[in-house]
Amino acid sequence: MPGRTAKPHVFNVQSSLSKRNTSVIKRVFRYNSNIIYPCTLTSTPSDNGSERSKLFPGLQLLTMPNSKNILISGAGIAGPALAFLLTRCGHKCTIVERASQFRNAGQQIDISGNGLKVVKLMGLYHQAKEISCGESGLRFVNAKNETQAEFKAEDSDDKFTFVKDIEIMRGALADLLKNVTEHDTEYIFGNYITALREQDSCISVSFNEGLDRDFDLVVAADGLGSKTRGLVFNKDEVKYNSLNQCFALMSIPYEKQDGTWARWLAAPGRRCVFLRPRPNEGVTGAYLAFIGPDSGKIGRASAEEQKIEFARRFKDVDWEVPRILRELKSDRMVNFYAQEVAQVNTTNWVKGRVVLLGDAGYCPSPITGQGTSLAFIGAYILAGCITSMPNDLPSALLQYEKQLRPFVEKLQKLPPGGPKILNPETTWGIRILWTCLYSASVLQGFGARVLQYIIEPLSAIFGSKELVLPTYPSLEPALVKEDSAKS
Ligand SMILES: Cc1cc2nc3c(=O)[nH]c(=O)nc-3n(C[C@H](O)[C@H](O)[C@H](O)COP(=O)(O)OP(=O)(O)OC[C@H]3O[C@@H](n4cnc5c(N)ncnc54)[C@H](O)[C@@H]3O)c2cc1C
Repeated sequence: MPGRTAKPHVFNVQSSLSKRNTSVIKRVFRYNSNIIYPCTLTSTPSDNGSERSKLFPGLQLLTMPNSKNILISGAGIAGPALAFLLTRCGHKCTIVERASQFRNAGQQIDISGNGLKVVKLMGLYHQAKEISCGESGLRFVNAKNETQAEFKAEDSDDKFTFVKDIEIMRGALADLLKNVTEHDTEYIFGNYITALREQDSCISVSFNEGLDRDFDLVVAADGLGSKTRGLVFNKDEVKYNSLNQCFALMSIPYEKQDGTWARWLAAPGRRCVFLRPRPNEGVTGAYLAFIGPDSGKIGRASAEEQKIEFARRFKDVDWEVPRILRELKSDRMVNFYAQEVAQVNTTNWVKGRVVLLGDAGYCPSPITGQGTSLAFIGAYILAGCITSMPNDLPSALLQYEKQLRPFVEKLQKLPPGGPKILNPETTWGIRILWTCLYSASVLQGFGARVLQYIIEPLSAIFGSKELVLPTYPSLEPALVKEDSAKS
């Protein structure tokens, strides 16, 4: 390992440290005591004003001889997860986020399979579990609220369930990642990359605001519609595959009948309504989705236009829908987010010193339920490859793509019909769906396999098992031990 025999650098630390920031110092000691890399704390002018610079005046970044200076575009899930892993291995990460602050909108997202393994290895499992939503399971209901099929929440990947071990609010997850990265990652909000120029030994980056800066690597983790990807990849290299579905998410006040089970109503005309209760917070997450050729147009419209369009399309649906539409039209409406359901396929994920990560490179679409798990898996494999070969970034990036792509391609394969299979056109189609779901719910193991075959998009949990997560000794400083990660 580079620098293994070199003497650790000596550094001075301010004596008055808060508990939280003492961990930064502890980690520095851990690196030194393990003699993984000789390291030192250095200062950079760009860090002025950060919390760390207030605490350690003159002492800033953990660096090592092979330390890389990495720019990540997008402070969603994948970007901060990558920064978490890389900074703990001595690299310097800067995250530029277009929004003026962390975006904590969104509803429940699940983390399962290998994504969950990565969360455990990062030592975040217990914190994530603490803030997970804890639903009892999912009930498919008719317009009279009568249950047609139900699936209990399961904490094992061996049992089929629609409600995973960790169903966490996206905003809470974003906050958790912020809390564990903000002390050693430089965040720039309200800004974005406008140009990238490859140089011999670096890549020069221009921003919408501020001076140009040089980095060793740029990671595009800016989501489905990634602009950074658009700066580097030609249109014919990126396939944006619309699944002709648009969904809207919002929070509405919790009512007693919401109970603790998530409830799903399929409505004729390929529409569905999904309620996810969070009684402790006094809110219920409401989802509306429809399939139609104009889903892309509505997905790109303004929030106000989207609200009008969803209200128009669901006005004839009964059950809890009048209540949802009342909230949709009211000024109280918070946490509204709508998006087209789409997949992204790029011919390659690497171009020079730019690499794609998460939805920006390979969005599997929300109907697979795997976007966030994939964000964690992608961050883990990319960090593993970079830390294994910090002085040969081209090979590291190719390895990342080689190791992850077969898994992503498998996951992105949807059966003919895609989301249509769970959103029938007619009432007869809905009855057939209920019969299949009911049979699957009572048949247990066999039922799960039948269900997997019938509605593969939502059973992607099975696919995630096929990737054997590689291990990277170079990532050790960032991970907890395998044994403690299991619990
Ligand atoms: C506000 C929000 C709410 C969401 N809610 C849900 C949900 O309820 N259910 C669900 O299944 N999925 C949701 N998603 C998508 C989900 O987070 C991702 O599919 C998954 O976690 C993969 O994460 P990602 O980091 O690759 O992408 P994302 O989580 O989409 O993060 C991308 C980040 O990049 C930022 N960004 C965009 N353009 C630029 C730019 N040009 N420069 C810099 N930054 C940029 C965005 O503001 C965002 O913070 C949501 C995404 C967002 C942004």
